[in-house]
Amino acid sequence: MTSIELRNIVKQYDSVDQVTLTGYKGEPALNNVSVTINDGETLSIVGPSGCGKSTMLKVIAGLEYPNSGQVIYNGQDFTEIKPQDRGVGMVFQDYALYPTRKGRGNLSYFFEVHERTEAEEQARIKQTAELMGVDFQLLLGQMPDTLSGGQKQRVAIARCIVRDPNIFLMDEPIVNLDAKLRERTRIEMKKLLRQFNITTVYVTHDQQEAIFMGDRIMVMRRGKIEQIGTFDELYYTPVNLFVAQFIGTPPITIIPATVNAGSITIGSTTWELPDMVNLSDGAVRIGVRPEAWLLDMDDGITMTVRHIERLPTERAAYVIGPLPGADTVTAIAPLDYPKAAQVKLAPDWEQTVFFAAHGEAVLHAPGVPDLF
Ligand code: ADP
Repeated sequence: MTSIELRNIVKQYDSVDQVTLTGYKGEPALNNVSVTINDGETLSIVGPSGCGKSTMLKVIAGLEYPNSGQVIYNGQDFTEIKPQDRGVGMVFQDYALYPTRKGRGNLSYFFEVHERTEAEEQARIKQTAELMGVDFQLLLGQMPDTLSGGQKQRVAIARCIVRDPNIFLMDEPIVNLDAKLRERTRIEMKKLLRQFNITTVYVTHDQQEAIFMGDRIMVMRRGKIEQIGTFDELYYTPVNLFVAQFIGTPPITIIPATVNAGSITIGSTTWELPDMVNLSDGAVRIGVRPEAWLLDMDDGITMTVRHIERLPTERAAYVIGPLPGADTVTAIAPLDYPKAAQVKLAPDWEQTVFFAAHGEAVLHAPGVPDLF
């Protein structure tokens, strides 16, 4: 049972990243970050490359020490505790199995190093193999270089579980698997995490994976936390323009507009705003998600269909219209929508996010709908 708290963590690397040869000149990889990860929770971390996701995992694990701030486990200050004494299990994208040891040897390594009894080792390996499923026994007898990517990753996960960690830290653990295997592995991992109720931090660049794995999702940018919440909270109540644009695929369309006495104008078209949207007069920007465009509206703007993409249950139409300041608009249409060269679209104002004309502030967001 472990909760993790980061308090005002600053982590500044003193050299350029030797892998990417980049680094924010003078800007810390983690810039005064505070967050609490609840006991038993899985927190997914997403954000653009280089925003500090991996650094946050390393600071939690003790593989990197912060310049300032504290790492608290269960209310106790662990900032100075060595990684091997933190009870942390890590799974990385490159598996990092011990190449000269069979599956079983990879699992038993921990018990040998920590001088645990043979009986404990055997019992834990047996228990873990049972948890990992029927065919896992076979992998125990094989050398890593004879295993497929998915099999290697299962051994890596089992090697983590066998240690009975208090915390799981996973950094893009299934990014190297092919799509089908990724799907299967993430379901297995989720099942295991549910079973164990181990506090988990899961880094991924894949939004779908973040939603699937995480009880909550944290969005980071340039060493800072932008927002933490469920996917719906991030999607319907983004705290700023960055989160609104980062979350959701196809992405939200941003369009300049003008508010005047309860009505709103885009280009030469004007609509009444619903009562729930209460804005001061002046310039704004609106954010319309693909499903928040209403099709065939009398008061819509006529736009030209540029490209149509088949989604599993709908079609995404990429249309272009006389929209000052916005390039492509993405709208979702039902599968049976007739083929057309032009469509008439209007925003569903109740589903629209309103932003300040400049900067990133949100003036009004639709709020999380009350769905199933
Ligand atoms: P992410 O996991 O989100 O891609 P990282 O945590 O790896 O981001 O990196 C955050 C920032 O810290 C980046 O600017 C990166 O270049 C820099 N960085 C990461 N690791 C090192 C390192 N070992 N030495 C110097 N700079 C680093």
